[in-house]
Amino acid sequence: MPSVNIHSILQAILETIEPKDLSDEAVKKLGVLFSEQLLLAALDLIDRDCVTQHISPWGRSHFSVLGMTGPYTVFPSLYQSCSIPFYCTCPAFAYSVLISQSQITCKHILAVLIARPLSKCVVREMNKEEVVTLLARQMSDI
Ligand SMILES: [Zn+2]
Repeated sequence: MPSVNIHSILQAILETIEPKDLSDEAVKKLGVLFSEQLLLAALDLIDRDCVTQHISPWGRSHFSVLGMTGPYTVFPSLYQSCSIPFYCTCPAFAYSVLISQSQITCKHILAVLIARPLSKCVVREMNKEEVVTLLARQMSDI
């Protein structure tokens, strides 16, 4: 079962990532925590510009990652006191991370976590109308 310690180790590795260039050493360290398949899938999402950072008019941001069946919303940094400090709306997160606890993250969260320090997120500034549309859509899902 993943523990809080794994998340602090992950955080320490992410802090060593320099903008623009993911070093072999960082990939090797991430490979200790994640399966090669998950890591390569996350790097592939970054390469294909699937990670988008949406910035609201008041400076808050959230992330979306384009997956196989549509964009998933990713919250990469919930409170560190949470036993799982991130959340993704994809089915793999629900099954592999929350229910079976066989993975630390899904590929979408991992892609956001790696893309952020690399500065490889596609940045989109949202205007007020887009925020209202987004909120209205989320309300209708509830
Ligand atoms: Zn996901």
